[in-house]
Amino acid sequence: MKLLLENWRKFIAEDYEPVTTLRIFDFDETIAHTRSETRVTAPDGSTATLTNQQEFEEYMNATAAKEGIDAFDAVDSLVEMGYKIDLSDFSIVKDPEEIKVVTDIMKDFPPNSRTFIMTARRGQSLGPIMEYLDEIGIDSSKVRPIATQGESKGDVIATMIGNKIMPDGKSNVHKIEYFEDSTKNIQDVLEKVCRNPKIKDIKPDDFVLTIRQVIQKGDSYRLQDIEC
Ligand SMILES: [Mg+2]
Repeated sequence: MKLLLENWRKFIAEDYEPVTTLRIFDFDETIAHTRSETRVTAPDGSTATLTNQQEFEEYMNATAAKEGIDAFDAVDSLVEMGYKIDLSDFSIVKDPEEIKVVTDIMKDFPPNSRTFIMTARRGQSLGPIMEYLDEIGIDSSKVRPIATQGESKGDVIATMIGNKIMPDGKSNVHKIEYFEDSTKNIQDVLEKVCRNPKIKDIKPDDFVLTIRQVIQKGDSYRLQDIEC
């Protein structure tokens, strides 16, 4: 009974908490650099080892084009066609190196905000990511994980904006800060969130989306801001 009341109280508090800001963080190469590899065997027996995000995207784009797939994320379609795609490195957090220019911002939870990790990794990887956050001193109980599982991040963020509509017909979300390394995901978010006529009417007049792209140069990282 006590637990039930606690949960109820939490629910009530959450519902009335005036959330106006969403902070959305990608994981791989945004919060941490990891040594994750993707190993692929094509139906014709040829193999490829993709050692970073760029190689992964190039291989997936080229193979999707060759096979006539136009899904945002080609992995599931390729598996159905007989490609063996070993993503097991992405079910753990392998040899992580913290990207401090991002985690220093993430640790500091501003008022009236909600913080998310949004990753294209599959669902079973969320546990290890949350454990890693606690290891580097980020309170994971204040972070909500979302695995997009092949769906476009732009579509997911557009849906989040429409989740709660205030009496004036506008979203409660006035500000989004989105941290990401992938240019493909950033282009998608610009298209689906900034230039999307379908959500234009529910964006508050002062709505602002700031994209903070993580740029790696040698061993160091910096943030480059892209406005909506
Ligand atoms: Mg990434």
